[in-house]
Amino acid sequence: MVKQVAVGEDQVILGKNGSLVSSKSQPGGWHIVKDGACDCKGFEYRGKCRHLAAVEQATAERKARQAEALRLMNQLCDEQNGYAAVA
Ligand SMILES: [Zn+2]
Repeated sequence: MVKQVAVGEDQVILGKNGSLVSSKSQPGGWHIVKDGACDCKGFEYRGKCRHLAAVEQATAERKARQAEALRLMNQLCDEQNGYAAVA
């Protein structure tokens, strides 16, 4: 499953083999970001663009959410073990 997330005004879909970022110049269109490169004109000229940055931010946020979920899960397991020990 892939999930669409908002990064500022951009919509980002993170995939395993590449990501999609909504296009501002062409509403309804998506830019393909893969292996640190983007298919937009800006990247072609400057070697960087907002889409690349949006994917990086979305990836960082996803990692932070996963770390938080893991922490909560561990916490819950610890509590359960605690109850089990008391019982
Ligand atoms: Zn781009």
